Amino acid sequence: MKWGVVAHGGAGSPSSLSDGPAAAAAAAGRLLGGGGGAVDAATEANRVLEDDERFNAGTGSVIRMDGVAYMDAAVMDSEEGCGAVAYLTRTRNPVLVARRVMETPHILLVADGALDFARKCGFGDYDPQTERSRSRLEKGLLDFKNGKRPEWPRNWKHYEVDTVGAVAMDARGRFAAAGSTGGTFPALRGRVGDIAMIGCGIYAGRNGAVAATGIGEEIIRKVLSLTVYRFMEEGMSPQEAVDRGISLYDRSVSVGIIAINRDGTGIASTTEMAAAALTD
Ligand code: ASP
Repeated sequence: MKWGVVAHGGAGSPSSLSDGPAAAAAAAGRLLGGGGGAVDAATEANRVLEDDERFNAGTGSVIRMDGVAYMDAAVMDSEEGCGAVAYLTRTRNPVLVARRVMETPHILLVADGALDFARKCGFGDYDPQTERSRSRLEKGLLDFKNGKRPEWPRNWKHYEVDTVGAVAMDARGRFAAAGSTGGTFPALRGRVGDIAMIGCGIYAGRNGAVAATGIGEEIIRKVLSLTVYRFMEEGMSPQEAVDRGISLYDRSVSVGIIAINRDGTGIASTTEMAAAALTD
């Protein structure tokens, strides 16, 4: 395998939406086939999915209970390090902002600081809400009103997932991972998920790249992307490594993982998950 890319549309996304990740992988594949870098490819795959309003990232991100969409995104390159944003509002493509953070001395910018940085980089203000995301919020709030959700968040069953992510390997053998999300619903104000926490939602190193999706708190507890990366370093194939990662969870926990190394690609999840892989 000279180059490869895997993209996903989030744990819980129906496989009928696989055309989304397939289009994202195709866009990344065009870059990789033309000699482009893994980090550009992984970023581009996320950008395509952020612009696809059916997924919970960028346009169409989950709206939290205060009526605002707060977005997290991260990018990691096996040689150039990583960059992330959390709790970012009013931005069309958080993954592009995370990519720019990677070029600064910092790793993570949050909230107003992240928005200021995005503006300074020339990204215009943008409302990521859609009719669909607004009606999902209305339905979620109604569930609360009707007592279908307990008040105390520890008992909340998160049900909005559909985050996006991608991993890539370029022809020079570099690896990258990127992810973008509107987070879960319900969530307390101020909640940040796994995507912005390097090693949890994404990880890339000299021996491969991994991206995770699902309930962020569960992913963080197991530092899942780094854990699966280590499985590959121990000699597992990407498919064996993601299967092993998934086996760490009860089937009732919504989690998905994608991975790539020089030997191939891997995709696994406890729930349905729209995903696509493309290699040269
Ligand atoms: N992991 C994301 C989060 O918890 C959600 C998802 O993957 O869909 O923010």
